[in-house]
Amino acid sequence: MGRFPLLLLLFFFFLAGPGAAGASVVESAYAPGVVFYTWSDAVREYAVVGGGAVPTATVYCFPDDICTTAEHPEWARDAACEKWSPRLAERLDASLGRLIEAGLPPGLLAGLRVYVLPAYHLALPENPEKPVAGLYSRGRVAVAGLDLFPEYTFLHELGHYLADRVLGAEGYDWIPNVGRKAALLKDYLALRGYPAERLLDASFQTSLPWRERAGEWFAEDFAYWAWWCIEGRRPWEGSYKAACGVPGEEVVAWFNLVFAQCGGASDEGAYR
Ligand SMILES: [Zn+2]
Repeated sequence: MGRFPLLLLLFFFFLAGPGAAGASVVESAYAPGVVFYTWSDAVREYAVVGGGAVPTATVYCFPDDICTTAEHPEWARDAACEKWSPRLAERLDASLGRLIEAGLPPGLLAGLRVYVLPAYHLALPENPEKPVAGLYSRGRVAVAGLDLFPEYTFLHELGHYLADRVLGAEGYDWIPNVGRKAALLKDYLALRGYPAERLLDASFQTSLPWRERAGEWFAEDFAYWAWWCIEGRRPWEGSYKAACGVPGEEVVAWFNLVFAQCGGASDEGAYR
């Protein structure tokens, strides 16, 4: 190697070194084929795959280590992210580990990409007034990693991912296909009493308010069930946002049957 390329390499090494402190791209410790991108690495990789989210609120840290949120459309710096929400990807991955331990087949997760974005709130560029905590699209989960409950948001978005994988949905397109996936999808809608007059194609579904969409009912139910599974207690009821209301015993039992035997086994420690 000549001197010039070596110098160039060193230059990029130093460029990447301190600037990228805290950012990372790591494969899941529990589910082969799952990759977590965090902070500045998530911003870069999410842009590569056409993820359109933009930051609407951020976190700043001062030299004395005091950090604060600000309504400002700027990605937070890696060092601030690690102070605000240390080792978040590891914590999200641990929740996958708990679900797998409870029986969730890790193969269902292969191919999942998780983008832990350095923002307090996110928005879609076409709708900047409406902040969101997470987004799902085609195997890709994005969460506002500096939001108050990124762990819960992650489970909600994971619900969208598994609706695609297990029920054969495609984002908001909930038209049943054929075979076992379609049977499960219809089963779920019947169990939840989803109104039959509502069309299940993506354009009709997105014309409904968020809390009335089939995909959001499922994602909220999944997050509720998975949180219970991981934490050993029901989530706070106020965290449930879909119009169908908190899942009852028969819904929890269905999730146990389809995904992993865990939630609902014991209600001890429940709080409401
Ligand atoms: Zn959702």
